[in-house]
Amino acid sequence: TKALSISNLSKTYKNGVQALKGIDLEVEQGDFFALLGPNGAGKSTTIGIISSLVNKTGGSVKVFGHDIDTDLTKAKKMLGLVPQEFNFNIFEGVEQIIWQQAGYYGIGRKEARKRAQPLLEQLGLWDKRNTPARELSGGMKRRLMIARGLIHDPKLLILDEPTAGVDIEIRRSMWDFMQDLNDKGTTIVLTTHYLEEAESLCRNIAIINHGEIVENTNMKSLLAKL
Ligand code: ADP
Ligand code: ADP
Repeated sequence: TKALSISNLSKTYKNGVQALKGIDLEVEQGDFFALLGPNGAGKSTTIGIISSLVNKTGGSVKVFGHDIDTDLTKAKKMLGLVPQEFNFNIFEGVEQIIWQQAGYYGIGRKEARKRAQPLLEQLGLWDKRNTPARELSGGMKRRLMIARGLIHDPKLLILDEPTAGVDIEIRRSMWDFMQDLNDKGTTIVLTTHYLEEAESLCRNIAIINHGEIVENTNMKSLLAKL
């Protein structure tokens, strides 16, 4: 089974914009995969559809073999999502935000506490566990998004521009964290418009432009071509 299998996926928004024109994409289990493309290429739309936040116009999506049309509950359990926009309640504390997310997955408070601690420690947020999110720096907010996306221990983690606006030192530590997670077996897909970020992390890459996959290869072959 593939971690992610996308077939002939299309999306036309109500305003007539054809954001995806029938894309095919497969991600192997254990892969670290980059979806690279300029602004407006269709990256966020793709992620939105995979995580069922955006309705597709046509095609199919399977997460570890579970079709999002027929098997959404199972697909969602497998999937962790780290959206680009901060969408937590900024007046709530760090740990509270994590617990709430755990609740969406039916994870009880006691278990949520047990899971949250090592995650927050690894991401350098344990000291901030009682701090309201609005008092966090941008880099801390990004890391909170990642911790929240991992609380149900997903097998596939999708990150939309995870290091956007983060300074280089924190960016490096986030790269280390993601690398470590992938080494331990989590399949990762990230979108970025920095080739450098994809280059230092990812084994395989697809380049999307104007709603079409224009390149789908491994990182080594791509770099050899440039
Ligand atoms: P990316 O994430 O690669 O920057 P998006 O998936 O956000 O690209 O956008 C792809 C195209 O769809 C763009 O032309 C964008 O303007 C358009 N688009 C995105 N979201 C919407 C929306 N909610 N309504 C209409 N058009 C949208
Ligand atoms: P509600 O439960 O109020 O309908 P949502 O379903 O929009 O809320 O999302 C609840 C939280 O779960 C949000 O933080 C959102 O980012 C996250 N989320 C939504 N869909 C998914 C998904 N498919 N996988 C992982 N997280 C998701």
